[in-house]
Amino acid sequence: MLKPLKPQERIRVRDKFFSLYISKERIDETVSGIARLIDHDYAGKTPLLLCILNGAFIFASDLVRKLETPCEISFVKYSSYHGMESSGKINRLIGLSENIRSRDVIIVEDIVDTGNTMAKLLDDLKQFEPSSLRIACFCFKKEAFRENFAIDYCGLVIPDLFVVGYGLDYDGSGRNFPDIYQLDKTLL
Ligand code: 5GP
Repeated sequence: MLKPLKPQERIRVRDKFFSLYISKERIDETVSGIARLIDHDYAGKTPLLLCILNGAFIFASDLVRKLETPCEISFVKYSSYHGMESSGKINRLIGLSENIRSRDVIIVEDIVDTGNTMAKLLDDLKQFEPSSLRIACFCFKKEAFRENFAIDYCGLVIPDLFVVGYGLDYDGSGRNFPDIYQLDKTLL
C-alpha cells in the first residue's frame, strides 16, 4: 500500500520559497465544517455550486463529495490575478452554461482577497435572477478586503500573505500541493 506523503516544510515554486502554513488535515476539517453548514441550510433544496476556476477546483471537488444534500456543480472563470499581486483588472465571466434563474446558487471560491473579483461576480450573477446567491470561500484575507458583501460560508480567515497549494498557484505552478504554503520572505 502507498504510504501517505509527509508534507514538506519548505517548498520551492518557480523562483520563490514557501513554508507550510495550513496542513491538509486542517483543510479537510475546514471543508467538512462548511459542508455541514450547507447541508443544514439547504435541506430539501438542490443548490447549484458555481466553482470559480481555476483556483477553486480542488476545494469545490472536496466540498461536493462531503455534501449530503443533493447538488449540481458548474464551472465559470474570471482571470484577474497574475503573479503575486491582484491586478485590479477583471475580465469577462466565461462558461456560464447553466440557467441560474430561480436556482439556489452557491459560489465556490478559493480566496477572497480585496473582494473585487467577487463583487463583480455577484453583480454579474444577480442579473440572471437566481432565487438565492451565497458565497462559500476557503480563505478570506480580512485585512485586505475592500468590499462590503457578506461571506456566508468562510473556511479560514488568514492574514494578508501570499499562499499557494490546494488549488492556489504562483504563476500557474503549485496548485497540486495538498497543503497550503505561505511565501517565505526570509528565503527570497
Ligand atoms: P480579489 O479580487 O479578491 O483581490 O482576488 C481574488 C483572486 O485572487 C482569488 O480568486 C485568487 O485567485 C487570487 N488570490 C488572492 N490571494 C491569493 C493568494 O494569496 N494566492 C494565490 N495563489 N491567489 C490569490
